[in-house]
Amino acid sequence: MQDLINQYLAEIELFFTQNAEELEQFRIKFLSKKGLIPALFEDFKNVPPEQRRAVGQALNDLKNKAQEKFNLIKEQIETGAVEVKSDIDLSLPVDFLQPGSRHPLSIIRNEMVQIFSRIGFVVAEGPEIEDDWHNFTALNFQQDHPARDMQDTFFIEKNPDIVLRTHTSSVQIRAMELRKPPIREIFPGRVFRNEAISARAHCIFHQVEGLYIDHDVSFADLKQTLYYFAHEMFGEGTRVRFRPSYFPFTEPSAEMDISCFVCGGKGCPICKYSGWVEILGCGMVDPNVLENCGINSEEYTGFAFGMGIERIAILKYKIQDIRLFFENDVRFLKQFTGVV
Ligand SMILES: [Zn+2]
Repeated sequence: MQDLINQYLAEIELFFTQNAEELEQFRIKFLSKKGLIPALFEDFKNVPPEQRRAVGQALNDLKNKAQEKFNLIKEQIETGAVEVKSDIDLSLPVDFLQPGSRHPLSIIRNEMVQIFSRIGFVVAEGPEIEDDWHNFTALNFQQDHPARDMQDTFFIEKNPDIVLRTHTSSVQIRAMELRKPPIREIFPGRVFRNEAISARAHCIFHQVEGLYIDHDVSFADLKQTLYYFAHEMFGEGTRVRFRPSYFPFTEPSAEMDISCFVCGGKGCPICKYSGWVEILGCGMVDPNVLENCGINSEEYTGFAFGMGIERIAILKYKIQDIRLFFENDVRFLKQFTGVV
């Protein structure tokens, strides 16, 4: 019986309503002649004599609590005054909510997406776990290319080879396989290389690559597009220069430097006193790569470029250590509060 008393007591204490109908239900349930509490009094005669004193007291207590609750709520409903018991002081000033901040890599990636979207590039994404064809073979990597080595690439499986993608170029292959030219897309994403982690290198980083394929796309279009990007990203006065380079999937290939935006080209520690800072690789898509993806290289030409988001963020924010991007140290991250 004591268990039932405790159970009813808890229910009565929690009960609240502003509705007369619900209050009547409460009365019928607990207090009416056929209610639960009179039923307990009826059972009281079965309680062993040695327990009667304690149980009797608890039972009377329960009845009083139910009656008090009923009277209180009845009065509140009748007078229209619902007493709100609360420790909250509504006049106190609010606790200021610290706004979060975007991660610096997100800030830079979003800025890149916006810059390229203004000249018609759309964003496309692909899987981070990639097969050999999309990550290497379709991009003209020779079978003995060092990037195919376990020293450089994380392999999930061997024969057939499944890897963590080493660049977002794999998404370029997927774009060319799936869609017909004109293709004007950028590919932001996370990539993985088997590198020792240091202030300068990490096994995880992010790239944005771009691809434009159409009739009569030339190296001049490539230069103009990247010149526009450099101005938008680093400022109006930025100069660019292209140095010949080599990538398996572009021919000809180049690396692009920008004039140092810290010293303006005079020489400083950021540009290692050269006046120039390397920011990306680029080139005309190798006809063989186009053919690998089912695009007629006699009819279409295209250019591609790629850059590291960390590299751009390090330059723009003068960050000394690439590991800071992945440590989630709030002292680092909260410096970007307010940047959108
Ligand atoms: Zn400089």
